[in-house]
Amino acid sequence: MAADAIGIPRAALPQRIASLVPDKDTPILTMCAGGTRSLLAADTLQQLGYTNVASIRGGFKRWRAENLPLQFDAFDEDAADRYSRHLLLPEVGAAGQVLLGKARIALVGAGGLGSPAALYLAAAGVGTLTLIDDDKVEKSNLQRQVLHADARVGMAKTESARMTLAALNPRVQIQAREERLYAANVEALIRDHDVVIDGADNFPTRYLLDAASRRLKIPLVYGAVHRFTGQVSVFDARRAESPCYRCLFPEPPAAGEAPNCAEAGVLGVLPGIIGLLQASEAIKLVLGIGVPLVGRLLCFDALAATFRELRLSRDADCPGCGADARFAGYEDIARICANH
Ligand SMILES: [Zn+2]
Repeated sequence: MAADAIGIPRAALPQRIASLVPDKDTPILTMCAGGTRSLLAADTLQQLGYTNVASIRGGFKRWRAENLPLQFDAFDEDAADRYSRHLLLPEVGAAGQVLLGKARIALVGAGGLGSPAALYLAAAGVGTLTLIDDDKVEKSNLQRQVLHADARVGMAKTESARMTLAALNPRVQIQAREERLYAANVEALIRDHDVVIDGADNFPTRYLLDAASRRLKIPLVYGAVHRFTGQVSVFDARRAESPCYRCLFPEPPAAGEAPNCAEAGVLGVLPGIIGLLQASEAIKLVLGIGVPLVGRLLCFDALAATFRELRLSRDADCPGCGADARFAGYEDIARICANH
């Protein structure tokens, strides 16, 4: 909004103006988005007996184009109430909440990691959440995938997730992409997002995401869980010093060497903890606050109740981001994964 302006719905103007401006000779400027409705509002005010009324030609669009002063604390009542605990934090505040509202975050996987991340990102007021998953809800998911519900077993995970998230925060735009991420669509799926959260359960997806997020220069928030342990890091291709996923895992493991949840089991709360650390990193990246987990691998052991941090350096010989690394297309990466 323009600085010092007061937002009034046009229909409420005749009722509200008398208490806001009791003196009918007070100068009043009316403004809307483009200048048409403010002209009608000015007309209404004159009919009510206000003598010094002018409408701003070109409206807010022109105000902004001419770099005139703005205020950012003009949330509607719902947003001011809903995000009040964010607005109290100077590090977030109204300007930060506006940034969150404009943010687009892609979640790859609406499963164990994606569930807690999506819930809290929606609650936080992230403007657009894109959910990418082609699975259906199974009963064995419900032990940890808290986006879903017993009555929705058999439903597409993206649709089940959309229902839960819309009920939590109807302001958030949910884009459900019920498709598998593969070589041909990975760039199209994550392009135009500010952050990508990796909640994938398979290596081809992780290696494709690594390549695409590096090429598109979108920060990738990595998370993984195994039995009672989990790990988180941030790979941010916008920063020259940031390692990538392949600095950590140069090649996919041989088939059978890295059992997934379905084979090895996982403590149900583990992806909850790791997925929320991913959400926390994503919010920090959007707001530009704090110290991101770039160049650090945070490892959590639930049985020991310990967090351990490992330093991750960029590997000069990394097949993904090293000096001699050659990108031969996403099909090639998919092939490397298939051959292991
Ligand atoms: Zn690398």
